[in-house]
Amino acid sequence: MSSVQIGINFAYIISAIMFIIGLKMLSSPATARRGNLLSALGMLLAIVVTLFAQGLDYKWIVLGVVIGSVIGLITAYKVAMTSMPEMVALFNGFGGLSSLLVAWAEYYQYPDMSIFIATVAALSVFIGGVTFSGSMVAFGKLNGSIPSKAVIFKGQHLINAAFLLIIIVATGLFAVDAAATYWVFLVIVVIALAFGVTSVIPIGGADMPVVISLLNSYSGLAACAAGFVISNNILIVAGALVGASGIILTKIMCKAMNRSLANVLFSGFGSTTHAAGGDGPQGEIKPASAEDVYYILEAADSVAFVPGYGLAVAQAQHVTKELGDLLEANGTEVMYAIHPVAGRMPGHMNVLLAEANVPYDQLVEMDDINPRMDSIDVCVVIGANDVVNPAAIQDENSPIYGMPIIETFRAKTVIVLKRSMNPGFAGIQNALFFAENTRMYFGDAKASLQALVAEFKSGN
Ligand code: NDP
Repeated sequence: MSSVQIGINFAYIISAIMFIIGLKMLSSPATARRGNLLSALGMLLAIVVTLFAQGLDYKWIVLGVVIGSVIGLITAYKVAMTSMPEMVALFNGFGGLSSLLVAWAEYYQYPDMSIFIATVAALSVFIGGVTFSGSMVAFGKLNGSIPSKAVIFKGQHLINAAFLLIIIVATGLFAVDAAATYWVFLVIVVIALAFGVTSVIPIGGADMPVVISLLNSYSGLAACAAGFVISNNILIVAGALVGASGIILTKIMCKAMNRSLANVLFSGFGSTTHAAGGDGPQGEIKPASAEDVYYILEAADSVAFVPGYGLAVAQAQHVTKELGDLLEANGTEVMYAIHPVAGRMPGHMNVLLAEANVPYDQLVEMDDINPRMDSIDVCVVIGANDVVNPAAIQDENSPIYGMPIIETFRAKTVIVLKRSMNPGFAGIQNALFFAENTRMYFGDAKASLQALVAEFKSGN
């Protein structure tokens, strides 16, 4: 090994350590930003030292860096926080596609592959291809360009099983004599792309975050396989880390919805259409004005804010914090109850509330707030719907039955901020809105909260 190669590998070890420490730091909101930065610096180091490798054609690299950076910068600035899951789906998809292309390029250049290299190349192409087309379907479902409901078709499991069988046979044929089986390689590419579509299309939009997290894991595995193909140690390590962390996040999310991964992938959750106003309970609601809500809050000893997707849409995080501060000044205990899948991406509410400088010690996880829910005076539900729907624990026929919720219905009083009686993501009506202890405070969440802040400031 040349001294340059030794230097590169040494730098790769440092990068790998930075990735691992960075990942660890992501597990707490207090250190997450620095963790992200540390991992990014680790990646920068890995990229810079890789450029010292022999035989690179820099003009293509510079071109790629310039085009990629421009697209990345523009999208990073432009993308709305609520569209972040779509963006992550695209990132995963392109990660998978690059692994496919890296393996293809290596095969094109050195077709005479050993059995091991041919096998990992086939794996890289297969997993990369599935990740790419699967992520494109997930992207389409999230941004509404294809129907978000689960598309179930006849013989679907049979087709997927046939695809898998073809992939296994084709990988075997390819591994034995890679140089003579270019057509088999192309079969793997085509089947991988088709398999990505047929395995994601039957999954409903509500399950897309889990799918995206799983595809994220796949993109890591594809990169790991590509690392073996081109003998690049840091690609193997980084790919394995992404693969492992993606699968851990997938498991956490499944647990948050009280469902198995198999149920998410194969049950066709969300394949039924729901009425425009939302299926489920109907009844009489009790609307409240800003003044009514002010009096309720003013008299409360404890208030738990329960944010959801509507908080993100209304960008109401800052005014929520402002109201929280006013309540605290009034002697009220204030908490922010976070459901793990509130909003449209993992950690969505944490990100928004951190942006508004809500102190971390006021954020309460679902499992910590539920046991003390009976003693809370007022729950203020801000643009949340599915994550507080009691049907999830009370109605066995509900499509969301089994999903753990923040049990706001057990609080003494519930104030719900939303614009209409429209349902949330799962498309079903919410019995909480008709409950005896619930008051509906209609309007855009930001405007509604601003009105409450004004009430507090004027002392009514
Ligand atoms: P929901 O989608 O269930 O409900 C959001 C509510 O916000 C709607 O009922 C809507 O009612 C209201 N709303 C929208 N805009 C505003 C506004 N400007 N002001 C006030 N209210 C507003 O959100 P939840 O957070 O409760 O649940 C998340 C759902 O999304 C779950 O089903 C989850 O599985 C799914 N999901 C989660 C992802 C994640 O990773 N967190 C990713 C993708 C999906 P109205 O229109 O009447 O105002």
